[in-house]
Amino acid sequence: MQIINLGRRSVLEEYRTKFLSLARQAIRRATNNVKAVNSVGDLLHNCRNCFQCFGILGGIGPSDNLRYVISVDKANDSMDVSGGNGFSLCYETGGITSSSKVYFSVRMRGNNLQCEYCYECSDCEYCFGCFALRNKKFCIFNKQYSEQDYWLMIDKIKVQMLKTGEYGEFFSLTISPFPYQDSDASIEFPLTKEEIIKNNWHWQDETKDGIDLSKFDVFKAIDVPDDIADVSDDILNKAFICEQTGKPFRITKFELDFYRAHKLPLPTIHPLQRIKDRFAFRHPYMLWQYACSNCGRTMLSAWDPARRYKVYCEDCYLKEVV
Ligand SMILES: [Zn+2]
Repeated sequence: MQIINLGRRSVLEEYRTKFLSLARQAIRRATNNVKAVNSVGDLLHNCRNCFQCFGILGGIGPSDNLRYVISVDKANDSMDVSGGNGFSLCYETGGITSSSKVYFSVRMRGNNLQCEYCYECSDCEYCFGCFALRNKKFCIFNKQYSEQDYWLMIDKIKVQMLKTGEYGEFFSLTISPFPYQDSDASIEFPLTKEEIIKNNWHWQDETKDGIDLSKFDVFKAIDVPDDIADVSDDILNKAFICEQTGKPFRITKFELDFYRAHKLPLPTIHPLQRIKDRFAFRHPYMLWQYACSNCGRTMLSAWDPARRYKVYCEDCYLKEVV
């Protein structure tokens, strides 16, 4: 290790290529599930009765009775939830803690009960269409109602929403303020510009005009020194043009300190593209029918057959690898 200078980009790339070639030959487990009883999915830990779930962490506590749920811990009796812990009886919600009966909502912290179409509320009960409320009860569009008026108004709203086909669905992607290609969605589910526009989702063409580079010396990414040892602090005043996307990016002081401390070369790729490249290694939240590369038995696998990896069923994997 001492004679290999991974602080040089050219050396690091050489070893990265060798590693990927080694990894390509490795035997892969169809799914990575531990203590997952009667469950279908990948990266399942300490759970029971989970169907098409991915990333049940099992660190805080067990989960059970989940469908189409990703990245959660200690969750129960819920469906279509992405991210959270300690919740139960939730549906079509993302980022939720210790709550119950929260539907079609995002980032609900603390202990919430029976909230719908809410965003970033905490410790609220019986709220509808509210944003960033704390410790509130019987509110609609952040306006306080009496308990009796609340239920009358909720009935009216839901009847109208049912007529228009809106009730029961998560916030539509057509009203997202963020361009698809700048969001997590483009990392999890990459789509072409044509596909995004066809769905009437938010697409925004790249505009370089909005970025003021006049204060910086602008260089091509290829001009970033190959060896971290050759980098001086004046790199913090420079901007580089990503060799893959053509987007400008800078190196921050924090990054520079990090790369120096770990003796790693500076990147030549825009940060968002780096995230996308890393996610490309991870398999998506999907399962495929796959024939075990050893015994031929059909199984569900988290590996895309198109990648042609050597994937073993659980029995073959345990015999061969463990
Ligand atoms: Zn097998």
